[in-house]
Amino acid sequence: MTLSEVPSNSSEQVKKVKVLILGSGPAGLSAALYTARANLEPVVLTGMDLGGQVSLTNTIENYPGFPEGVGGQELVDLFQKQAERFGASVEYDTATEVELSERPFKIKTYNSEYLADVLIISTGAQPNHLNVPGEKEFTGRGVSYCATCDGWFFKDKNVVVVGGGDSAIEESLFLTRYAKNINIVHRRDSLRAGVILQQRAFNHPKIQFTWDSVITEITGEGKVEKVNIQNVNTGETSEIPTDGVFIFIGHKPSTQLFADSIDLDENGYIKTGLSLSTNVPGVYVSGEAGDPTYRQVITSAGMGAAAAMQAIRFLESQEVDQTVPVTT
Ligand code: NAP
Repeated sequence: MTLSEVPSNSSEQVKKVKVLILGSGPAGLSAALYTARANLEPVVLTGMDLGGQVSLTNTIENYPGFPEGVGGQELVDLFQKQAERFGASVEYDTATEVELSERPFKIKTYNSEYLADVLIISTGAQPNHLNVPGEKEFTGRGVSYCATCDGWFFKDKNVVVVGGGDSAIEESLFLTRYAKNINIVHRRDSLRAGVILQQRAFNHPKIQFTWDSVITEITGEGKVEKVNIQNVNTGETSEIPTDGVFIFIGHKPSTQLFADSIDLDENGYIKTGLSLSTNVPGVYVSGEAGDPTYRQVITSAGMGAAAAMQAIRFLESQEVDQTVPVTT
């Protein structure tokens, strides 16, 4: 298909770009910086949340160069400014459909349509749900997946946090600014979180733990009032009265859009390797969409840079101005 044959889904013209980056977290914005510095004028589609998960994180203490820590939103702003300084464009738009069987790749969005010579997928991940009764009903009315966003609403209130990883502990520590008491309900008797975070939580007077337990239901009249829990060893059930439930039980990659065109593993992560290529030549992945292992700001940023370098090499090796059938 040639450019002129591509039907437009809006009044806007189809936009032809050399590099299209889906996602605006550390991975996407780092890929933008590197491809911008190669004069490729990348376009970044932000997705629903500019900055992705990191922008919802209060303080990041393990990104080098910021000895006192840095705010998640602040770091995203810096990434964006740096990429834009070299010619990247950041568009507040989300891909809704991809056609990757030939190049240039065709990507439809809410507002527009793109033809891209290379595509870098940096769509990140989204929080897992408990899938218990009451969770969906009370989301936004006491159930939350973001302490930075919603912590303020729980000033002098009691909250329950679910999970035992870095997110659960870090967000619990953040919630101590507002909440009167934080009860961390964890399904085992030890935490997965890093040692420093664990020590801070164990030593914090506002934080207590309910071990070996899972939430079976969230209930209340119009708002969250209590959670029912069950001890996984004894089967014993009990209740915890609470004003809110914060759920941090891991993430799943935001890759559903590519399920028909790119190889995913059994958990939905895009299959890749050190080269960050996918099974479709010219399509690369960076960040949590292709990383079930590290999932850190620094590793995602590094993947963005590496994917960009591969994309640059790919473009240099291709006659990209024509439509080329993709062989996988
Ligand atoms: P995570 O490390 O996968 O931890 C998820 C936690 O939720 C685990 O404790 C897990 O229990 C629990 N869990 C999972 N499914 C559950 C269920 N259905 N019911 C109850 N509990 C459940 O996820 P994360 O904490 O979001 O962290 C994700 C990645 O981001 C990690 O690599 C982490 O290191 C990184 N991260 C880093 C920082 C930092 O360095 N500052 C901050 C946040 C996140 P089990 O332990 O029993 O499996």
